[in-house]
Amino acid sequence: MRNLIHSFLQLFYPHQCLGCGSDFLRLSHLLCSRCIHQLPETGFFEKAGNPVEKAFYGRLRVEKAAALYYFTKNSLVQGLMLQLKYRGNRNAGLFLGRMMGHAILSSGRFTDIDLLVPLPLNAKKQFKRGYNQAELICKGISEVCGIPLEVNTVVRKQFTESQTTQNRVARWLNMEGVFEVRFPDKLINKHILLVDDVMTTGATLEACGSYILSVPGVRLSIATAAYTI
Ligand SMILES: [Zn+2]
Repeated sequence: MRNLIHSFLQLFYPHQCLGCGSDFLRLSHLLCSRCIHQLPETGFFEKAGNPVEKAFYGRLRVEKAAALYYFTKNSLVQGLMLQLKYRGNRNAGLFLGRMMGHAILSSGRFTDIDLLVPLPLNAKKQFKRGYNQAELICKGISEVCGIPLEVNTVVRKQFTESQTTQNRVARWLNMEGVFEVRFPDKLINKHILLVDDVMTTGATLEACGSYILSVPGVRLSIATAAYTI
């Protein structure tokens, strides 16, 4: 009976696994369970001193840091990121977030997080894309872990037209460094998990994280969906 219903739904709502094209997957899922199991997990959430934590040594005072999957070229993880960032596929963000949520729960190391904060996108980019992908990832994490998210407190500063022309070089040098904590009260004495899609050099996370750490009593951890080797 279930198969019959499945076939019926497939007729009207064709839905295929993003990885292998199989149509045997739940309607709300992007990947079939076989492809989900084949995603290259890093195991970083459980591991103290993992490469993401090491990347911030001496740069940013982070409690814990981790990334869920390895990001490699022409991989399924790259495919998910493409869907999320350029194809308007919001489900890709929610899916990655939920997977991160499960990793957070089973790690036992990220148990005292109070708030999720998505790395803010600049307003222009967000308008063009229609959403901030890091926020969707946070929503997925929140669904699984029940940790609330805070979206309007940490923002990217906007430049006026005149500032754009006047300070072009200065702006270029500071490109990653223009954040603002708008309502510091909301973060005081909290353990914040700053979330982004992919960790490469970590420069943007470092810049944003240093603003968050300027709030009294704040502790900071970092999590991303993927990590480039
Ligand atoms: Zn598949």
